[in-house]
Amino acid sequence: MAEIIIEHVTKTFGAFTAVDDIDMTFEDGEVACLLGPSGCGKTTLMRMLSGLETPTKGRVIFGGRDVTRLPPRKRNVGMVFQYPVMYPTLSVFENLELPMRYDRSVARDERRRRVDEILDVLDIRHLSKAFIEELDAGTRQKVAVGRAVVRQSEIVLFDEPTTNVEVNAKLQLIRAFKTVTSRLKQTIVYVTHDQTEAMTLADRIALMRSGRIVQYDRPQVLYGEPTTEFGGWFLGNPGMNFVPATVSGGTISAPILARPLPAPGDLRGDRIAVGIRPELVRMAGIAGPDSVPAKLVDQAIGIAGRYLTKAAIGDTVVKVNTKGRPPAKLGETVHLSVPRERLMLFADGDRVPAR
Ligand code: ATP
Repeated sequence: MAEIIIEHVTKTFGAFTAVDDIDMTFEDGEVACLLGPSGCGKTTLMRMLSGLETPTKGRVIFGGRDVTRLPPRKRNVGMVFQYPVMYPTLSVFENLELPMRYDRSVARDERRRRVDEILDVLDIRHLSKAFIEELDAGTRQKVAVGRAVVRQSEIVLFDEPTTNVEVNAKLQLIRAFKTVTSRLKQTIVYVTHDQTEAMTLADRIALMRSGRIVQYDRPQVLYGEPTTEFGGWFLGNPGMNFVPATVSGGTISAPILARPLPAPGDLRGDRIAVGIRPELVRMAGIAGPDSVPAKLVDQAIGIAGRYLTKAAIGDTVVKVNTKGRPPAKLGETVHLSVPRERLMLFADGDRVPAR
């Protein structure tokens, strides 16, 4: 068993707090992604897991073993970083075999069997004899993934491994990564700032902001039920709309609402907003019973049959993602409606259950 327990971990650099009292568990055999904007502390947290950095406070526990103060080589974890360290003049096979070379518990035949298996899983058997220096960045990174998992250590850490890989090779690498991880059942922590990558790879995503974990959930839950405005904004392309709302007499009014909503009894806050994903806003050329008029204020951009545009209701601009072309041209009037059951309420940035 190799669950990772991060126990009230803080890291400060002088007066600056890079990681702020993180307390969480990555389950055994789970692929967990650390996702967040630049500077939120992902790399610092990862460096504390790998042993390259020591927490200012708190403990790191791998499978029941306190590793907080152990150096990287004593942690028995595999690691892949943006720039993998490999031996350019050794072959792919030799590079894959290397991590097990000095491990007496793995006999020669077993070593070879494991390397063979990885070559097949990553679909690089034909490159077995090629030298690392002959490979492109994407394939090199594939070998690095293989090398990190081949020792079959219970925990493997990945820090933005696809950053220097071009787009097509990136997809291939992600596919290979998925095959490898579903086969080997190791506990994986994977750092990325790329939401698509996190949504594709992770069993669960830990969303970070300013040194803290904002939400730790399955990808669909993180997307569909963000607990904060930050989460709704950060995930999605573009992110969720937050339409300023007012509360009075037990009801909520907002420019996007044709009729007020009943307000939950415990709704308090200086800043109330109604949240709705751009793809859930309906846009029509003619008025309906629950629609509000708006003006198209942004050129629609088509991506894979969907169109992204913006419509203004007075001063309130709403991002809309429609399946077909918008029913009007720039500057013309459209009619917006929202499915009331899909609306979310936020008070001072935090989600409030609607009922
Ligand atoms: P990115 O995606 O840009 O790498 P990140 O989420 O990985 O960002 P970190 O690299 O962990 O963020 O950095 C978090 C904060 O801590 C940043 O503001 C950074 O400047 C600061 N920081 C990191 N390492 C140090 C250090 N050794 N000394 C001082 N400040 C540091």
